[in-house]
Amino acid sequence: MAKDIIVVGGGIVGVCSALSLQRAGHHVRLIDAKKPGRETSYGNAGMLAEASFLVMNNPGLVKILPKILLNRTLGVRVNWRFVLKRLPWFLKFLSYCRKAHVLHAASALRQLLTLSLDAHKELIKAAGVDHLLRQTGWLKLFRTEAGFAKFSKDLEIVKSFGARFTVYEREQIRQIEPGLKPIYCKAVLMDDTCAVSSPADLTDAYVALFQRLGGVVEQTKVTGLRQQDAGWCVECGANTFTADDLVLSAGAWSAEMASWLDYRIPMAWERGYHMHLQPGYAPALHRAIHDIEAGFVMAPMKAGLRVTSGVELTDRDAPPNYQQITQAVAMARQAYDMTDQLDQTPWMGRRPTLIDSLPMIGAAPRHDGLWFNFGHQHLGLSLAPGSAQLLTALIDNTPPSMDVAAFSPTRFRL
Ligand SMILES: Cc1cc2nc3c(=O)[nH]c(=O)nc-3n(C[C@H](O)[C@H](O)[C@H](O)COP(=O)(O)OP(=O)(O)OC[C@H]3O[C@@H](n4cnc5c(N)ncnc54)[C@H](O)[C@@H]3O)c2cc1C
Repeated sequence: MAKDIIVVGGGIVGVCSALSLQRAGHHVRLIDAKKPGRETSYGNAGMLAEASFLVMNNPGLVKILPKILLNRTLGVRVNWRFVLKRLPWFLKFLSYCRKAHVLHAASALRQLLTLSLDAHKELIKAAGVDHLLRQTGWLKLFRTEAGFAKFSKDLEIVKSFGARFTVYEREQIRQIEPGLKPIYCKAVLMDDTCAVSSPADLTDAYVALFQRLGGVVEQTKVTGLRQQDAGWCVECGANTFTADDLVLSAGAWSAEMASWLDYRIPMAWERGYHMHLQPGYAPALHRAIHDIEAGFVMAPMKAGLRVTSGVELTDRDAPPNYQQITQAVAMARQAYDMTDQLDQTPWMGRRPTLIDSLPMIGAAPRHDGLWFNFGHQHLGLSLAPGSAQLLTALIDNTPPSMDVAAFSPTRFRL
């Protein structure tokens, strides 16, 4: 039966949720404070990953914890005041650093990533934006043999879940990416990973498709959520919108909104930055690269070469700190010839992360007609359409195409 459904939050996760529900025959209203896709979903590295299913909470993290806490790694920057304020979140996150959890999360994420990549390819076609899709894999690069040796352990797990990759030596790296400077001794190409050349254009195209199918977009800030009669009332200042069901998919803002209804969502955020640079005279890159030891990703984008930083753990709305992206850009210049910085200031976004690094997809435990779809951490762009399909099946009470237990809100006491 067709329902009136409101989706709160128009990042890629909310947009894909709205589109999937609209395609399933519901009447959907998507509400975002900004133009959809202008927060975290705007500035990511554009990877549509299918092999990035090893979560951050793993036993290896505990070993390097002292270095992380002293800000001696390039990939993670920690604000101590934030850590102390959020100590329960950090301790719970660390409690998942177990091999058993790595395998449990890998199994769930691998299935959802595969489902999502297929769904993205279909949606990209339906939205008429095939030109955005790049199917040339993702190149992980190593400056030292020791760095590669560490990663090899992860590769064993990646292989055991059926993901395809190819290892390249120094000379072969020169052949597949002749533009790179000769600083890398090993590379691993994740063969089936895809990418888009503008995450913002992708979201815009999905929103346009949603609207063509009859979906409605409201650009207004949500200020309250209320259960009313058999449905939901969404307050946006003086305006209210009503619906049978409500989907909360507001990324890093979801926990705060859920708290209005007395849910305690174990979420924090991993902030990250990007900067675009003008390519120099070296041959063009064929694909995004990930320098694991230097902690940056560099992706060829419509707007230039996008260098993205690792993780910054600090308050969601703290002023930006450009130290990490400045360092990432300097490291990226060691790898590839680039000239001007194209952005006035670096962009900053917030990856929404739950204590077990798995998204929360499903019915809110204490309210009929309330649905959660958030917490997609480093993988929100990749996971969005698959998560939307699972959510749609749950709302329609039809069997989802994979086991959703790992993502169920009931795995925590909220
Ligand atoms: C540097 C970086 C690189 C990344 N690279 C990749 C990558 O290559 N591949 C990948 O898969 N993922 C990547 N990610 C992660 C990915 O970008 C996120 O997981 C994803 O964007 C989260 O999407 P979302 O829709 O949940 O949240 P968001 O995109 O943040 O959307 C949340 C929306 O909620 C809206 N909202 C908030 N409060 C309100 C309110 N009160 N009223 C109305 N609307 C509200 C916001 O305006 C926003 O549009 C990266 C992230 C970063 C930071």
